[in-house]
Amino acid sequence: MTVKPLTIVHLFPELLNLYGDGGNVICLRRRLEWRGLPVEVQEVGMGDAMDFSRADIVFIGGGADREQMIVKDAMMERKSELSAYVADGGALLAVCGGYQFLGHSYAMDDVVVEGLGIIDMETVRGEGRLIGNAVIQSDICDMPIVGFENHGGRTTLGSGVNPLGRVLGKTFGNNGQDGFEGVHQGNLIGTYLHGPLLPKNPQVADWLIARAYERRGDAIGLEPLDDAEELAANQVMARRLGVA
Ligand code: GLN
Repeated sequence: MTVKPLTIVHLFPELLNLYGDGGNVICLRRRLEWRGLPVEVQEVGMGDAMDFSRADIVFIGGGADREQMIVKDAMMERKSELSAYVADGGALLAVCGGYQFLGHSYAMDDVVVEGLGIIDMETVRGEGRLIGNAVIQSDICDMPIVGFENHGGRTTLGSGVNPLGRVLGKTFGNNGQDGFEGVHQGNLIGTYLHGPLLPKNPQVADWLIARAYERRGDAIGLEPLDDAEELAANQVMARRLGVA
């Protein structure tokens, strides 16, 4: 059977790529290549055209407030295309600054940045930053998801919106208050966890890949990979954070 390449779109890599977030795209690519599955990565910069109907996984990385201000208009220009992609079941991973763009708005100290409105959620700048290693328990995989968070924004999900997980240990999560971290809606995941997220949590990487094939109707059973080292590292990190 000839398999059509999976197309991974990295949106605005020149600006939204904090704390090694680009490693998420490398991880997705490698996990496909290791299984002999064809893959194409498209880096879509601010001035580039992109036909999202060709995308199978979209990745939006994190960025400091400054980068978010630079990128906001280019992001909004893609609002209808990105919304349509997600509504059609497109797999999407957004981290931190990219995650904040999924909501209605991000209110910084002196300016409100409009969001894509794909998820019913709001972000406001709080006092001080929420910084530290993080661990959450999610419904999408058995292992705790581990990472690193560093954000000034506090995100609150609308009622009925599913978080990606519940915070464990000293993790702050969306706002340091309600115990939720990230968002999970259909085939979309948003999270504050850098790391990069996917190399540290291979189960999350395979979840995205599986959703992308499912949406295309390709019956591809993902062969297990030897993730012993990654999973051991994930467990050590979870234990260090006080989670068994
Ligand atoms: N600028 C945002 C904040 O501080 C996001 C930062 C990030 O992507 N780490 O909340």
